[in-house]
Amino acid sequence: MTGKMSKGPAPKRPESVDQEQFLTILSREEALARFEAALFPRELPSERRKLADALGCALSEDVTAPIDVPPFDRSNVDGFAVRASDLASASEAAPVRLLLNDEVIACGVAPSRPVLSGTATPIATGGPLPRGADAIVMVEHTQPVAARAIEIRRAASPGQFVSYAGSDIARGEALLRAGTMVGSREIGMLAASGIADVMVARRPRVAVISTGDELVQPGEPLRPAAIYDTNGAIVTAAINENGGEAHFLGAIADDEAALEAAMRKALADSDMLVLSGGTSKGAGDVSHRIISRLGKPGIIAHGVALKPGKPLCLAVCDGKPVVILPGFPTSAMFTFHDMIVPVLRQMAGLPPRSDAKVSAKVPVRIASELGRTEFVMVSLVEGTDGLIAYPSGKSSGAITSFSQADGFLKIDALAEAMPAGTNAEVTLFTPHVRVPDLVIVGSHCTGLDLVTAQLAHAGLIVRSIAVGSLGGLAAAKRGECDLAPIHLFDDKSETYNTPFLSEGLELVPGWRRMQGIVFRKSDARFEGKTAQEAVRSALADPACIMVNRNQGAGTRILIDRLLGEARPDGYWNQPRSHNAVAAAVAQHRADWGMTIAPVAHASGLGFIPLAEEHYDFALVQSRAQRSAVRAFLDALASEESRAMLTRAGFRRA
Ligand code: AMP
Ligand code: MG
Repeated sequence: MTGKMSKGPAPKRPESVDQEQFLTILSREEALARFEAALFPRELPSERRKLADALGCALSEDVTAPIDVPPFDRSNVDGFAVRASDLASASEAAPVRLLLNDEVIACGVAPSRPVLSGTATPIATGGPLPRGADAIVMVEHTQPVAARAIEIRRAASPGQFVSYAGSDIARGEALLRAGTMVGSREIGMLAASGIADVMVARRPRVAVISTGDELVQPGEPLRPAAIYDTNGAIVTAAINENGGEAHFLGAIADDEAALEAAMRKALADSDMLVLSGGTSKGAGDVSHRIISRLGKPGIIAHGVALKPGKPLCLAVCDGKPVVILPGFPTSAMFTFHDMIVPVLRQMAGLPPRSDAKVSAKVPVRIASELGRTEFVMVSLVEGTDGLIAYPSGKSSGAITSFSQADGFLKIDALAEAMPAGTNAEVTLFTPHVRVPDLVIVGSHCTGLDLVTAQLAHAGLIVRSIAVGSLGGLAAAKRGECDLAPIHLFDDKSETYNTPFLSEGLELVPGWRRMQGIVFRKSDARFEGKTAQEAVRSALADPACIMVNRNQGAGTRILIDRLLGEARPDGYWNQPRSHNAVAAAVAQHRADWGMTIAPVAHASGLGFIPLAEEHYDFALVQSRAQRSAVRAFLDALASEESRAMLTRAGFRRA
């Protein structure tokens, strides 16, 4: 009896309960340490590969140069092999005459005659130096005289235009180190040394599965309430970028039996399994429950103090890593790069990826939650002294922020914020990121893409960051961008944009966008009416739902003027963009709203014009002379962009 009551090992809580409620949240560092401890050290399988097949693989052993490169002393130019001492006194006034030896050393020809004092041998670039010669005279610096002699009017120093044996690569030297990723440069070095194949780490086979009933593969039609599978493509690419060999197995519905079968098969066929989605405590989230049945020791961490990325699940099943990334694509991306890439690279025999990190200054304070390591998406711009990392991600679900971001920075779990001016380390999504030539921060417009397309075609990289007009103005004042596109209406002066400029900013006229009422075509409440009539008829129908705009939007001021005191159903639905208004109407979530004509037309909706909005640019004067800014202003002024803007429904100012 007593034995049962004594302090034996605590009764084990069923694992699933821990997981469902995230009872044990590990810090980022602790989770990574436990994951790595369960996986390493491990044997790295290696294989011999021909040079042509070794691209992107990591060398698994050091390679020593078996020969000298070049293998002999070699001429760097077309000319004559000579003895430098013969030319010691050569000058314009006293040319030296040398007799030509009876051979020509072309590439690949081994010399047979020595160069004796007073003689020279014609030699081609790449030809081996003959015995006795110690310098080359360029053919341009000689003059033929008589049949078999040349004259030289300048002195030559010993070694001139000669590449010595082994000067490129010396026999016995460590040519390449284990862990080096084989690229075209490495292949060149190996080929020059006569090496045809190398031992490389076998690229780990990584199976990738997306989970979720809502997922549709790109290329397939999107059914209502479905979304495209983004993680499958992201994770597959990121694995291949980091030394793995990814095998994407598609998206599996949230069905425990189907998912378990897919996971078992995937794991049997590969060295690692990466899933995404289904790791929260939602009812449909089943993958983590399956893991505990796949092998020992099973789940290492489920729930990590990351923001975003808390539901990350790390497991090891019979020696193979099994990872469930959070479903939100940005969360999946952060956690993959920060927590999974280090493990994958070790399995692939690669060193940590130093080329994917840069240092950049943060221009604004970034608030952060205490207790969780926070990831913040940033886009890089060139500042006056080094790179600036501009935070760009809004919420973990916003895939769009990818298109504006170059990478992300981490804020320590113990910090409440990252102060403005911090020099932060930025992890790049893709190494060798090119900092943009032109940075445009502010309100986005499809017309802008028509203008910047001309710059992009000319090879300039244009970064356009959509943060709204006020955000753009703030960035422009801080000098973090070249131009801020704005459409701000000043109630008092009833004018656009100019009243909002401050010192150092100058207004460059852009174009006009017709704003008006958007509705579904053939809706009799709106068809054929003026804007005032349309609003009256909407207010007269209690079943009619509107979609509004956010406070501060120029469009909102127009809506409020039309509505007066009325607050119809839908008034409090206040999205922040022209596109969201059109989507709400097109999808029958609302019956009318106010947007701009090109957006209404692109959605196939009816449109009643009301007033023009001014979309202009605040130009940062101190950056006006940059060549990319000049190129933008030229493109803006060009006939070509005027024509394109007109076609797209804008009116050039
Ligand atoms: P889950 O963790 O499965 O609840 O997913 C969280 C969110 O991420 C949901 O909005 C999902 O629709 C979304 N999500 C999950 N997997 C993917 C994926 N492969 N591609 C795009 N979004 C996804
Ligand atoms: Mg899901």
